[in-house]
Amino acid sequence: SETPTSNSEEEKIFVSIRVRPLNPRERARHDVSDWECIAGNTIRYKNGPTDGYTFDRVYGEKSSTQQVYQQGIKEIVLSVVSGMNSSIFAYGQTSSGKTYTMKGITEYAINDIYDYIEKQKGRDYIMKFSAMEIYNEAVKDLLVGNSAPLRLLDDPEKGTIVDKLTEETLKERNHLQELLATCAAHRTTEETAMNETSSRSHQILRLTVQSTPTNFAGPSRSGTLIASVNFVDLAGSERACQALSAGTRLREGSHINRSLLTLGTVIRKLSKERNGHIPYRDSKLTRILQNSLGGNSRTAIVCTISPARSQVEQSKNTLLFAGAAK
Ligand code: ADP
Ligand code: MG
Repeated sequence: SETPTSNSEEEKIFVSIRVRPLNPRERARHDVSDWECIAGNTIRYKNGPTDGYTFDRVYGEKSSTQQVYQQGIKEIVLSVVSGMNSSIFAYGQTSSGKTYTMKGITEYAINDIYDYIEKQKGRDYIMKFSAMEIYNEAVKDLLVGNSAPLRLLDDPEKGTIVDKLTEETLKERNHLQELLATCAAHRTTEETAMNETSSRSHQILRLTVQSTPTNFAGPSRSGTLIASVNFVDLAGSERACQALSAGTRLREGSHINRSLLTLGTVIRKLSKERNGHIPYRDSKLTRILQNSLGGNSRTAIVCTISPARSQVEQSKNTLLFAGAAK
């Protein structure tokens, strides 16, 4: 379907870069750190042309996840309480720090949402949590062990819904910690069964916030606000890059990650073309996130890179993706 997007500044995708420190393996083989961050928004390859790449924010090796969260992402996440859908993505090659960064962001975000809600007078809130994994275009429920693949259905009101996905109503903060641990356990279990699952799969953690005025007695549901924020830990970008550089055609059942490639196309179209056909329906990931990506919703992408000289090609590919999104 044609999904026009508006071109207001508000709807621009917020793009940041995070460079992790050299890891022990990189240090052991005397790899060196080749990237420098300048003025909070520019990243430069030290051995190349002097021009850098500029984004909304860039974070160097000494940065904390809290900094990454506070600048820009926090505001997007908190808009869920006013009924605005959003998605926060971590994109980058395997072992660049996606899971590390996303885990921290998710925890800060959820705490801030709880803090906000607890201070509100005059509205009643319900929070729900669900979690899924997309592996080879099969969607699984991360809140249940050994989940069967779940179907996507088109709902005339809600858009694409994941059939039979568990939705837990949250009681208090500790409850969510338990659920996050459950998800992590289910993801890890599969990792041993299937080779490198986490580098090939996408994880979506979804928090839905619904609120109604206290003692609401109106004739309709007009006082209700409902929205979701999605925390998305993407599959490693290295395969998408290989596929693209080889000029391979995308086809069903191939090793190419359809969801990752389609996400790239959707994001490019949202940020550059601003109207016309957005191919949300070409992958499971983009179908599931359609209502939280573009249109009346807000998006942030944290692109993670290794600082290592040995990884420079992958890091440049990640910056190219990031550049296409901004
Ligand atoms: P990915 O999810 O992209 O494959 P991970 O988040 O699992 O990568 O990170 C790989 C390793 O590097 C992990 O051991 C993680 O703890 C560590 N790491 C990643 N980012 C940072 C960081 N910014 N600071 C310190 N350690 C990090
Ligand atoms: Mg990971």
